[in-house]
Amino acid sequence: MENSCDILITNAKGVVIPEIGIVQTNILIESGRIKSLQHSTENIQAARTIGADGKYVLPGVIDPHVHYGVYRPIEESAKTESASAAVGGVTTIMRMLRMSGSYKRIEKQLEASKNNHHVDYTIHASILHPSQLQEMPYLVTKIGISSFKIYMNLAGDLNHILMDLDPESFELYEGEVNMDDELLSSTIRSAKTLDSLTMIHAEDPLICAKYMNRAKEKKFENLTNLEIWSSSRPPISESISVTKATSFARQFHSDLYFVHIGSARALDTILEERQLGRTNGNLYIETCPHYLTHSTDFDNIVGKVVPPLRSKSDIDHMWSALCQGHIDTIGTDHVANRLSTKVGNGDIWSALAGFPGLATMIPVLLSYGVNKGRINLKTVAEVTSYNTSRIFGLYPRKGTIRPGSDADLMIVDLSLKKKISSDLLMSFSDYSIYDGWELEGWPDLTIVRGIVVMENGIVDKTTLGHGKFIRRPINDQK
Ligand SMILES: [Zn+2]
Repeated sequence: MENSCDILITNAKGVVIPEIGIVQTNILIESGRIKSLQHSTENIQAARTIGADGKYVLPGVIDPHVHYGVYRPIEESAKTESASAAVGGVTTIMRMLRMSGSYKRIEKQLEASKNNHHVDYTIHASILHPSQLQEMPYLVTKIGISSFKIYMNLAGDLNHILMDLDPESFELYEGEVNMDDELLSSTIRSAKTLDSLTMIHAEDPLICAKYMNRAKEKKFENLTNLEIWSSSRPPISESISVTKATSFARQFHSDLYFVHIGSARALDTILEERQLGRTNGNLYIETCPHYLTHSTDFDNIVGKVVPPLRSKSDIDHMWSALCQGHIDTIGTDHVANRLSTKVGNGDIWSALAGFPGLATMIPVLLSYGVNKGRINLKTVAEVTSYNTSRIFGLYPRKGTIRPGSDADLMIVDLSLKKKISSDLLMSFSDYSIYDGWELEGWPDLTIVRGIVVMENGIVDKTTLGHGKFIRRPINDQK
């Protein structure tokens, strides 16, 4: 029947359609997709009607930067972290995968991922060794991965990083990575040839090693732990790496996507490079929620992250860049670790970098952005979904609300207040850098391809397995 549907969402205060703005409309969902947007609900036969009374409907969040499968294998990690995603209105998580050796083992990762996600997921593959360059065509054409990550920070004395675990393996696994200009430029060139995107972690390992040794030798009576950590990985190291990566991108007319930009200096360097032009490519900027809320004043080693938290003026700088439209996407850099593993021996050097953030991204943006009048809901939809879907080959199937798109939605209540505690967030992580903070503005319903996976903060356990792997780029126009 023309006017029948599986779900009718009605009475919203506004529906945020990134290409248009905030509109008053009813949303009809059928077979997992948006069927139509209609002004009147007359004669509509809906199997279920959801009243979004006084609330806003936004496209489901696409988190472009998620680490899970590092501390526990993917089949375990996916269950908890995709539930945490659902709590935060996130309908697609993009896994940042690190494998040593051959990427042919990725098929086992995909097999183990199946039936263990509440929300949809995709993968970015990290190129960590020259032997993996030749596997890029296989990853693009056979697997459906169209983005590759480069860790410029891994070389010299700082050449170790935890890898993703093989399925069924629980022992943390550290691998060696020796990134050099040859591997960096070859990856950018190959990705361009394959119509894929290179994602850059911009830090210089030699500068970081030098400053880290200095920081370890000095006595820092007046500095907090996080100030010491920040001084050991200075923004100049980010800035130099940005310039280097950009020069290769120019050579190959390639786009670059800079992950986790949180310092004013790194941001300004990218903006200057954008101004300089001389390239057919775009330079995309991702920042993370923690760079909008936490400075080194936080003074708690759970705030150890790479690149480090910076000063209050860096936070202001990131907000103003967000307001001015310079930031393309927000990614959480979510790391699903436990507090006991995280803090190591309790000193800043042995603590691990990274913390969870999937479930708190939207509450942070609503509390500190929308409810403080810094940004509007359209900007939220752009940086958390629309831009992300376009950059990573998911648009228009995802990232918007229009007929034919996947029915990936969140309903947000701007006045709902919740105090953060880890049980609320449903991650494997048993802490958050927002513990004890009261955030105002929460998703209270999350829909993934027409299925309600979260309602009133509760994830529907029966939806485990609904999430599916999304091959990119999605080519359909519907
Ligand atoms: Zn990361």
